[in-house]
Amino acid sequence: VSGFELLPWHLGPWKRFLGARSGGRLHHAYLVSGLPGVGKQQFARCMGQALLCRQPDAEGRPCGRCKDCHLFQVGNHGDFRRLQPDEDSKSGEIRVDAIRDLAAADSLSSQAGGYKTMVIEPADRMNLQAANSLLKTLEEPASSSIYLLLTARPQALLPTIRSRCQALPIAVPPETQARDWLSARACPGSDALAALRLAGGAPLAALALLEREEMAQRGALLQDFLRLSGGEGDPVALAAAWTKGDLPLLFEWMGSWVADMLRLGCGHEAPRLSNPDRAAELARSAALLDGALLHRYWRKLVQARRELQTTSLQPQLLLESLLCEWSGIGTR
Ligand SMILES: [Zn+2]
Repeated sequence: VSGFELLPWHLGPWKRFLGARSGGRLHHAYLVSGLPGVGKQQFARCMGQALLCRQPDAEGRPCGRCKDCHLFQVGNHGDFRRLQPDEDSKSGEIRVDAIRDLAAADSLSSQAGGYKTMVIEPADRMNLQAANSLLKTLEEPASSSIYLLLTARPQALLPTIRSRCQALPIAVPPETQARDWLSARACPGSDALAALRLAGGAPLAALALLEREEMAQRGALLQDFLRLSGGEGDPVALAAAWTKGDLPLLFEWMGSWVADMLRLGCGHEAPRLSNPDRAAELARSAALLDGALLHRYWRKLVQARRELQTTSLQPQLLLESLLCEWSGIGTR
């Protein structure tokens, strides 16, 4: 993204930022939080460019034409810095050296004579030493620097860091707004609503999902899964075929299918489903399944997803055992 584009659901936090700016109450550090896919990074870029622009319009939007806007847009403005975990780092942590480098840049005067913006993302990936080092910087602010700490897990940050930041949460938009935004960007006839629900309501995550090959196969995968519950199909062969895809995503989907079946089996009239476009087939299968068995299976799926992240267990074996247990579950 090189141009300035404020997403429709960013307007609330944007107004708070502009209000603070025009009132001379800009905070030294902001904690920009929100689910993955709400556009935290894009929002931080908007703030950064707005702070650099020489001729913002009446609403505080950058002009896109001045020298600073130009440097920013080509990713070459010295007063806008982004710190992310080292790509080579196995742990994916942000280390103390990187924070020290940032603080050194902070202590220099800005190149353009205005604000300097320092983005740290994801801020929850700072290790303890790095976090403590940042804390020192935040305690002795240089007047022209603004730190933007981006995170989907604000509770994972040190409380002392959180308390030094102004909270700027970005909420997921109302579903109708998110759907409109998504429909204008995704292929017509695509499963916008389902992608949105599967992405927890975060529009950018939903858009990324719609662009994935797996999304087009979701119906077929679900069909195989439901047939298996009736004892049709070979779980081991299915596991072998599915292992070629993105397993964490698949585990998430299996969880969403089973959770939807539980919701449909509860007897509520119109439960909110993660797979609203597959409600009919899910309901048909749910009617054939024992609720207690289904619930126990759902808990196993939750556990398996955790194991997939934390153990070195062969993912295919994990999937095999889950599918074997699922096979014929509706005939028991
Ligand atoms: Zn400008």
